[in-house]
Amino acid sequence: MAATCSKCGLCCRAIGIRQPKRELRAQARQGDANGSFTARHWHRISRAEALRRNPGMAYRIESARASSLPLYFYECDALDPRTNLCMAHTDRPPVCRGFPWYGRAPEEAWLLPFKECSFWEDVRERQLGLLAQQLATLASRRALTERLAGLRARRLARTVRNGGVT
Ligand code: SF4
Ligand code: SF4
Repeated sequence: MAATCSKCGLCCRAIGIRQPKRELRAQARQGDANGSFTARHWHRISRAEALRRNPGMAYRIESARASSLPLYFYECDALDPRTNLCMAHTDRPPVCRGFPWYGRAPEEAWLLPFKECSFWEDVRERQLGLLAQQLATLASRRALTERLAGLRARRLARTVRNGGVT
């Protein structure tokens, strides 16, 4: 079962993305659903401020550095800092609605910057599912090996009974 958002607000306090503000504005001019919202409501903050708000952003900074990709930080003026709630919940853009999986299988790497996120439950569930699959594969391999060993043993016994003639 998929996890639900615990509304901790962590993913909205500091947002790290590859696009500078001018790109958000350009997307807005093109009528893009994300750009139309983010160009108005997301405001640049410094890297130090992003780290202060969410120390987990260090993971994103490191991965951007490792892949030589740009990274820009923003705050959203629709986040109520007192309640951690989104004040634009019904109008929030796809980039917010789809977070964190955007229809993909849950991946640990995507959540590393968000230590307290309740969606870690999905990651653990998927990891357990994969582990169960691996165990089932191992068990069926073992059963096959035992079956082959049984066949070989019976064939050997038959050969011995026949005086070495198969
Ligand atoms: S619109 Fe709402 S969900 Fe999206 S970043 Fe802002 S506060 Fe968070
Ligand atoms: S970090 Fe996770 S639990 Fe917290 S508000 Fe964002 S989606 Fe919800």
